[in-house]
Amino acid sequence: MLQFTKYINKIMAANISDTDVIIDTEGITVPECAHGPALMFVRYSGSDAGRRFFACSAFRDRKDCSFFQWCDEKVSQEKLEMRKVINKSMQPKYSHRQYRERFQLVLKGIHKKERQLCRTCGLFLLPDEEKEHEDHDILNKIDKAMLKLPSQLFTPLDNNRTYAQYLFSKKTVAFVLDQLKSLNKTHVICLGAPRIHEAIMNEETGTLKSYLLDLDFRYMQMYGPENFSRYNMFNHHFFDGERSVQFLTKFLTGCSHDQVVMVFDPPFGGMVEALSVSIRKISELWKSVTKAPTDLTLPILWFFPYFMEKRIIDSFKDFQMLDYKVDYDNHTLFRGDVKKHGSPVRIFTNIHPQKIKLSADEGYRFCAVCKRYSAKENIHCDVCDSCPTKYGATYRHCFKCNRCIKPSKEHCEVCRTCQLKGHSCDKPSQGCHICGALDHKRRECPEKGSQKASKRKRKWVENRSKKKMKC
Ligand code: SAH
Ligand code: ZN
Ligand code: ZN
Ligand code: ZN
Ligand code: ZN
Repeated sequence: MLQFTKYINKIMAANISDTDVIIDTEGITVPECAHGPALMFVRYSGSDAGRRFFACSAFRDRKDCSFFQWCDEKVSQEKLEMRKVINKSMQPKYSHRQYRERFQLVLKGIHKKERQLCRTCGLFLLPDEEKEHEDHDILNKIDKAMLKLPSQLFTPLDNNRTYAQYLFSKKTVAFVLDQLKSLNKTHVICLGAPRIHEAIMNEETGTLKSYLLDLDFRYMQMYGPENFSRYNMFNHHFFDGERSVQFLTKFLTGCSHDQVVMVFDPPFGGMVEALSVSIRKISELWKSVTKAPTDLTLPILWFFPYFMEKRIIDSFKDFQMLDYKVDYDNHTLFRGDVKKHGSPVRIFTNIHPQKIKLSADEGYRFCAVCKRYSAKENIHCDVCDSCPTKYGATYRHCFKCNRCIKPSKEHCEVCRTCQLKGHSCDKPSQGCHICGALDHKRRECPEKGSQKASKRKRKWVENRSKKKMKC
């Protein structure tokens, strides 16, 4: 449990840190790193509080992408030249076309017994290349069946919090494909969902077609530009530029708007604001290609932890969280068979929940009042007029908070909210910088500007710096 709580805190902290992304950069020249246009940020604490800066949109760890520039900084010509060199050196070794050509050589020119994948580099090797990969993790004897499952061949990039490659279990993949079919979808945009893409590409009936958008360069070997573009979801950057947009446009051409759906499984530590902008841009593309009515948004299944619900709903009012527990293979905290209460990851969607049938065999039932499927522990509350349990044991109604609460919490008269037993009333240890609440950022804080709030915040910042000094 402790490990799980720690994990939740880590994700929340990544999303509610003392740094905000500033989406509106109109009139400002935005510099680029190797991962496309940088994002503009502002930090609220430290000696440079309030000063804006640009940093990499995809990699938050400076070890992975060292790009940094103050917005008010005058960058020398020399530094600009240097940056060009660095950006180039950080690109994948080959172009999409070259990767495809190499892959064709491996497929057609090398017998399956001789085929080799360097898992360290994520590269299928040509005959004379073994030497360069001597000390690497090499997978031998790769037959065609294995090539159809690249997500199993490649090592998941999960040690790195940027990629956060957590792969769906077979059960969840089958569930998603079944849903897409019963929703009469034919064209699926898989954004950060290589395993769904792979399953659709391998489907024999051919009722579904898929286009993968992902940052992972390794897939350039497996899929041509008609099915895959290397794409950065935090700044809507297509690494192959307009050419990729044309391929995606071609993929959608001829579909009716309601045949299209997007399956989206971003890294959970990612900034929801930046993701929202990209989603809106993809939705605009869908709208213009399929001539969808202007008031519609692209139908989406967005996979995200339940505790991020408010963040998503704040950006997308018409999204709802489903009760379906999303199961993963390579993340112990998300595995239904390991966790007592099952995975904390849910599906957020703008498709009507009634249309997404959850199986009675797995304990889900239809709630006639809510007109949606609810988990068995999620018992309808007549006061809230909803099925309120998000995770774990059945929530119970608190008449003081006027909502249903996790059974592990009880009402605290000091905090005037329900809190975990044994909590300490005076220190919001994390969360919003103004009031300490976990479910919103300072910019959405209802207490913003109030005197009481600033006092609380000051106290909290003081506490935090004391804590930091101790470390
Ligand atoms: N559950 C999914 C995988 C989700 S893991 C499945 O089984 O198919 C998150 C995915 O997002 C990974 O494939 C990762 O490569 C991709 N990703 C991470 N950062 C990204 C970025 N900035 N832009 C686009 N894709 C990214
Ligand atoms: Zn970068
Ligand atoms: Zn209900
Ligand atoms: Zn209630
Ligand atoms: Zn309460």
